[in-house]
Order: sequence, then structure tokens, then C-alpha cells
Amino acid sequence: MNITLSRLLQDIERYSEYGKNEHGGVTRPSFSYEDHQVRRLFIDELKEMGLQITIDGAANIWGKYKGTGKKKGSIVIGSHLDSVPNGGNYDGPLGVLMAKEIIQTIKDHNILLDHDIEIVSFTAEESNDFNLSTFGSRCFVGRLTSGMLENIRDSKGVLLSEELKKVGGGLDKFPEMKNMHNDKKAFIELHIEQGQRLENTNIPMAVINSVVGTYRSFVSVKGDPNHSGTTMMVNRRDALTAASEMILEVERYCKSKGNVVGTVGKINVIPNAANIIPGQVDFILEIRAESEEIIHEAVDSIQGVWNEVSCRRKVKVNQEVFLDQKPVILDQDMVSVLENTAREMNEPCLTLPSMAVHDAAHMASITKSVMVFVKSIGGKSHCPEEFSEPDDIEKVGNLILQGVIQLDRKISGKEISV
Ligand SMILES: [Zn+2]
Repeated sequence: MNITLSRLLQDIERYSEYGKNEHGGVTRPSFSYEDHQVRRLFIDELKEMGLQITIDGAANIWGKYKGTGKKKGSIVIGSHLDSVPNGGNYDGPLGVLMAKEIIQTIKDHNILLDHDIEIVSFTAEESNDFNLSTFGSRCFVGRLTSGMLENIRDSKGVLLSEELKKVGGGLDKFPEMKNMHNDKKAFIELHIEQGQRLENTNIPMAVINSVVGTYRSFVSVKGDPNHSGTTMMVNRRDALTAASEMILEVERYCKSKGNVVGTVGKINVIPNAANIIPGQVDFILEIRAESEEIIHEAVDSIQGVWNEVSCRRKVKVNQEVFLDQKPVILDQDMVSVLENTAREMNEPCLTLPSMAVHDAAHMASITKSVMVFVKSIGGKSHCPEEFSEPDDIEKVGNLILQGVIQLDRKISGKEISV
């Protein structure tokens, strides 16, 4: 039994028409007109497939294909249908439409699994005008509560609670979401890799065993603003040249380790004038790695070098941590089941951590969760050039299809026998 690649590719093409812009990209943020249209299409198509639809408080769309009922609860597959502005056809929709294709394939073969199989499309996974990413999954697992969302408005002053109602959700429906948790026995999210680790090794897919932790801090470097002509080089306390050394140390350290990535992506120079020696530089340091120890080792080592720079250049460095998100370990039994399935299918497959946060990282707090990545060409994502080879998509689809069948057999109660 295999998925039908042509049908899936047509679905991806069809869905990408909603929000297609003049640059060939897709602009379909949650709650937009295009999002409303694609939701209607998706729900109609799931109904046509005979699935039982539920829209929860966060307007996540669930479609259930009933099994024999011999085992309680459902194995859930899905991702998100919203996009960033001028995004591509694959980030999100590939995971949702693959779930649809897998259920369709199982139906076409008149197979009933012991568990129900469920498809989910989470609301507002991407960052949006409400400044809330992975919104749907965070609400579903209880990390965002109705109380926290009551007064949230977008930049135009529109209330999030009103937007939710328009798509079938609503803050009043939030308590019901908790009652749905017990029914979800496992969650699998397929996503494009958004990196080049698979391309570099020429392997089409990876099972994801963890989601990296993220550390972010505000860093402020204070020197002495002064006249750029009259202040001799030896007398300067230039905050920007000091910050430059500090930022280069982030790159040097992370490159030398290989298991950690560090970025300074936001920087502000004060007063930012051609004839004034920079008196202050503020920037944001971000470190990501798959374990807390690796992150804190990186922060400590980088801080050590920064102290030396600060003494030598006579600048004051202040660091304030504002995010210390722990890595998420995904379900190791599910990882093993998928690894073994790939081996049995003779498909090369890596096991990797995810360097970005996805809905699966939140779902892991209420049920056994795992992710699968498919190779992205050029590591591109969040742009119209986003692309995965049809051959690779087919392989990863068949892996998940077989993986679901294995999981259906192997999950009993809260246990998976590997
Ligand atoms: Zn995504």
C-alpha cells in the first residue's frame, strides 16, 4: 500500500492558489480572507471523505476517520495551513495535506485501524499580526489560556477573540479542549526541514527526536560617545568595535562546536551618526542547541570572552536573559518505531533534532509526539522558492503511512512496544 503522489501534489498545487501573490509566493496568515477560504475548502473536503469534524476553541480543525474501536483514542497526523507573508507552498500545508493523503489511502484500501486516525490543522502556527506563533497548539495544550487572550488585539485594534469566532472557535470553547487530550494517543507532524542537513548528506528524510531549546538575551554595550575627529584612537571607548568583537566570538564559538547555533540578528547603534563614536550598542543574542547543558556551556564560554573584551576596551557589558526555552525531547518509542519502519522499507533516514519550534513541541506536553522532516532544496523556507522533490515527498509519505500502521499495532494504553 502506497500513497498516491500525483493526488497529493495536485492538492498542494490547489491549496497554494489561496493567497497566491504576484511574486509567486503565498500570503495566507491565519484569520485573513484567504485563510477563511482555505478553511472552508479543507472542511468541505474532509466532510466529503466522511471524516467527523471538530473545530475547537482555538479554531484548530480536526477530522476523524473512525477505526474498529478495539483501541481507544486516535493517532493524530497534521501541521498547519497558514503561511508567513510571501511564503511557499510546502511549509505547513505539506504536513496537513499528507495527513489527508494518508487517510485517503487507508480508506481506498478499505482498511480499518484499531485506533481512529485523525488529521489536524493548527491555527496560526506562523508568527502573525497578533504576535502569537504556534497559537493553535499552545491553546490546545493549555499554554495559552482564554484569560491570557481576552484583550489581545492586532495592530489595527481587532480583537483576537472576535477573529476566532469567525472561524468557528471562541474563548468560551477553551475549557472543552482539555477534555479532548485523553483521546489523542499519538501525534506525528511532517514538515519540510528548513535547513540543509539532509541535502548535505543527500538523504531524503529524518526522524526528529527533539526540538532545540532557545536562549535569548538583551545585551547592552556602553562606551563613550565622542567627536569622531578630535578623539584620538588611543582615547576611544567605542561600543560598536567592542560589540563587533563580541558578535564575532559568538560565531567563532558556535562554528568550533558544530552542535550549537548562535545569532545576533538585531542590533541598535546609539547615537548612530557618522561623526560620533558609538556610545552604546544594544543587540539580541540567540543560542539554540538540543540540550540545556550545551546552551549554557556556550553562554558561559562566550560570556568569558566578552568579559575580556569589556576589560581591554573599557566598555560596560550588561546582559539580560528574556527567553530560556528548554529543549523538548520527543517520544523515543515513536522515534524507534519510525526508524525501524524506514529500515524495513530500505529507505535511508537520519535521526536529527529540530532547530526550530513546531506545533509538535507543544503537543509533546500532552501526548506521545514525533516529527518527520523531508529534505528542502537549498534549505529554503518562508519564501516562494521553498521546494521538496516529489520523489522525497513520496518516500516520506510512505514512511509515515507504514509508521501509522505500526503504531496502531504497537500502542496499547499509554505504552508503545518497540
Ligand atoms: Zn511550519
